[in-house]
Amino acid sequence: MQLTKEQEAKFKKLGINSISELALLIPHSYEDYRLQEKLIPHANQLIDATVESVYRAPNSIQITFFAHNFGHRVTGVLFRPKPYMMHQFKVGDRDYYYGMIECKIGNCSMSMPRKVTSIGQITPKYKSALRSDVMFRLTRELLNFENLREERLPEKIIEEVLALHFPTLEVLQNRELSQEAVEALKYLELYNYMKQLSLKRRYFQPLVSKRGFYDAFVNSLPFQLTDEQLKTIQDIQKDFAKSVAAKRMIVGDVGSGKTMVILAAAIMMMPQRSILMAPTTILANQLYEEALKYLPRMKIALVANKRKKASLEEYDFIIGTHALLYRELPEAALVMVDEQHRFGTQQRNMLEKLISKGEKKPHFLQFSATPIPRTLAMIESAHIDVSLITSTPYKKDIDSRVIHKSDFKDLLLHIKREIEKKNQILIVYPLVEQSEVLDYQSIDEAREYWERNFKNVYITHGKDKEKEQVLLDFRDNGDILISTTVVEVGISLPRLTTVVIVGAERLGLSTLHQLRGRVSRTGLKGYCFLYTNQKSSERLDEFVKTSSGFDIANLDLKYRKSGDLLKGINQSGSQFKWVDFIEDTQIVQKVKEDLLLLPKSD
Ligand code: ADP
Ligand code: MG
Repeated sequence: MQLTKEQEAKFKKLGINSISELALLIPHSYEDYRLQEKLIPHANQLIDATVESVYRAPNSIQITFFAHNFGHRVTGVLFRPKPYMMHQFKVGDRDYYYGMIECKIGNCSMSMPRKVTSIGQITPKYKSALRSDVMFRLTRELLNFENLREERLPEKIIEEVLALHFPTLEVLQNRELSQEAVEALKYLELYNYMKQLSLKRRYFQPLVSKRGFYDAFVNSLPFQLTDEQLKTIQDIQKDFAKSVAAKRMIVGDVGSGKTMVILAAAIMMMPQRSILMAPTTILANQLYEEALKYLPRMKIALVANKRKKASLEEYDFIIGTHALLYRELPEAALVMVDEQHRFGTQQRNMLEKLISKGEKKPHFLQFSATPIPRTLAMIESAHIDVSLITSTPYKKDIDSRVIHKSDFKDLLLHIKREIEKKNQILIVYPLVEQSEVLDYQSIDEAREYWERNFKNVYITHGKDKEKEQVLLDFRDNGDILISTTVVEVGISLPRLTTVVIVGAERLGLSTLHQLRGRVSRTGLKGYCFLYTNQKSSERLDEFVKTSSGFDIANLDLKYRKSGDLLKGINQSGSQFKWVDFIEDTQIVQKVKEDLLLLPKSD
């Protein structure tokens, strides 16, 4: 369907690109211009009336109508009438008028009556960037079965949606949308969104397409990989064998063992080169150490320095921080980004570009520890393949509890006991400096107390230039670490068993979950205390009941409080008006199938 220039301009104003997007802009109400013989109070109705008298008061006009269709009088009231309104009412004229009718003890009035010329129809009213009548004409021009069919929407969906724009009596009588109509709107919303996403995905030829092997690596490990780790590795194996460059996001909770997937991918790519970028020096170091340990036959380089110039040509696997972006890099067949949520999109794209100068592209894998609901992952899969790792290799034993001021003594006892056992405590404060607004202590206020009562107290925060060093010193020598949420992701602290989060209700559930994930990473019994001044919080109560990041992602959606879940993953997540991420998995699945977005093998 070719749009005219005029129609195109209107689409632009509405911010839409297709007729199916136009279909989604449904009317917000209907006007029923059919003549009825029965008067319905509290409703907009049409009358066939003769004007008997017009009375002007300072701020209003009263009109006495004789309504022929009902057979009695109705008083019309115009408040603050504009001059053009008055011309509509001349004593003795008989016309059709429309307005809201109310009745009190037998006296019926119509507020703000206006003259209507085209009668006998139901007219949808639109609220959009266009005037309702302009929108009305546009929908009449473009919304029809054939045009929507051309966009490959299923017949049933088309019928449901058209019924909203071209209402029948039935639609009008049900003041609420039918179940079928709501489902059709959900479908349409997902269809439009996912279609846009899939159009954005560009397919490239890979530098290398091959079948990689991982058996020897898996067999050499001191533990068994979990089913989801294996499934993800197989996903990647299939990606590498395709004739398009892989673009996959691997999402797994903290501690779900994503590093093993990274290493398996590098192994499968051998003898071609792989590159891995991590957000911090400490993390890059850690990955480098693990790679050395589990991939003894590979030549592995660590790049954490922008200025060194030595050639990297001889290495199979180059691991580094964003310093990689400033170095001359040899061609690599696989590029990976760990903890991708901590990089800007720009940095990720830069890395991808740096490495593919020609037409062909390396395979690209990004790893994220921000769990997203399955439904959202499915939606995202319209433009990037997604693997989820929802389980962790071993169940962590962490007690989570909401605590209040009255629990502080017990908390101190707990902290002392843990320190005696050579375990470590992390206390997270909401702010560095004192604040008038917040009724919690800041780090500056609290440090004196902890330093006076405990030994080996370390302090850091987001803007602290030394924070990586402080964390390393704490890991080796500390008892208590006081900080802001900076330690969200980063180095492993094997002796950390307790996290206390002050003012927990101020943080998003996913942030709380990330903080809790720092604790008991080596199987020690762990504790997570959420300190709050709030008397009760359903959100925090639900949080302490579950340890799965994916459950928490769903809870975060449920409370929608933080909104930090959708940030960075799907900025437009909130643009969904009809779709419910928790409930509508099946509809997403259906849309995916209809859009042919599913890989052939599934
Ligand atoms: P993350 O997903 O947060 O990056 P890691 O890859 O760092 O998690 O794994 C956390 C810990 O679990 C590491 O010490 C790792 O060696 C270990 N690990 C990974 N996979 C398994 C497994 N299948 N069984 C037991 N331990 C595992
Ligand atoms: Mg990791």
